[in-house]
Amino acid sequence: MVVVVEKNATKQELENIIEALHKHGFDVHRSTGVNQTVLGAIGVQPDFDTNTIRVLPGVAEVHRITEQYKLASRSFKRDNTVIRVGKNVIFGDEEVVVIAGPCSVESEDQMFTLAESLSALGAVMMRGGAFKPRTSPYSFQGLGEKGLRIMRNACDAFGLKMVTEIMDVSQIETIMQYTDVLQIGARNMQNYTLLREVGRIDKPVLLKRGLSATTEELLMSAEYILSGGNEGVILWERGIRTFEKSTRNTMDLSAIPVIHQKSHLPIIADPSHAVGIRDKVIPMARAAVAAGADGIMVEVHPDPDNAMSDGGQSLFPEQFKQLMQEIKIIIHAIGRKLSGPVKKKGIHSIEN
Ligand code: PEP
Ligand code: MN
Repeated sequence: MVVVVEKNATKQELENIIEALHKHGFDVHRSTGVNQTVLGAIGVQPDFDTNTIRVLPGVAEVHRITEQYKLASRSFKRDNTVIRVGKNVIFGDEEVVVIAGPCSVESEDQMFTLAESLSALGAVMMRGGAFKPRTSPYSFQGLGEKGLRIMRNACDAFGLKMVTEIMDVSQIETIMQYTDVLQIGARNMQNYTLLREVGRIDKPVLLKRGLSATTEELLMSAEYILSGGNEGVILWERGIRTFEKSTRNTMDLSAIPVIHQKSHLPIIADPSHAVGIRDKVIPMARAAVAAGADGIMVEVHPDPDNAMSDGGQSLFPEQFKQLMQEIKIIIHAIGRKLSGPVKKKGIHSIEN
């Protein structure tokens, strides 16, 4: 149930409304927008008479949220959620964020070489897995904490923010010491224990859509994180399984406008895992930006042919340069801007 508070309600009236909701067994989530305070009352009470709340002083409107996801829905919060990571990374506003990096962290040399070129070309966040979810238990599983340390140092050296994947609750404490943003991978989208746990932390979470999950199921997973108190959820389209075999997955671009309509949360797109073929990544990155994605994530490797994972879909740094040039034109054409430091002529700022 959503309770819209009157614009000129007093503090006391607001407190009384919250107290009444608690008394009736609801959990209350407050969202203070530019113009109005909205209370999300969450509880399993299908027969609750909303008039009980509607008549209270200070209440402007009461309506039920019909969607299964409540806190993630636009009915709960009309304005976009804007998530900032430092000064230069802004998800959910007019900016388009570019995240790039290898599939796996492999060595210091790899990460420093890449961080230098990615930041110079306009990426603001680096990706890289230190704990890898691999289809085969015999494939490279990641460098673990050593990988996190290498990546943190490379990001710091070139003013990049860091995102890395968490696969299991037992890794939270270690990963939290290094990263700025946590990634929950497609295979873990419905790992409810993990979702609940990251709902309790105070770092943003990039949540990937599961291999065969609907947009509604993605939003239900986001709801787990939001209901724990973590409001920093960024959704992530990465392609879904269909009958089509010519690409690794099928990139569901329509999920971008669909999610924007259903939810106030930002959504980014991952053309690398969606198509799985290097030469199809740039066109799909362009399409994702045109469809309104709040950011894109692409895999880039200094030597893709010798990558420990996902080399075939990783861009060469030269191709990443081309991608940046092309998406900048689209970003401009749709009236948005690239997330990043404001560059003064002739000065390359790495302030973050
Ligand atoms: C990844 O980002 O490298 C990854 C494993 O992605 P996904 O969870 O989408 O398969
Ligand atoms: Mn990968």
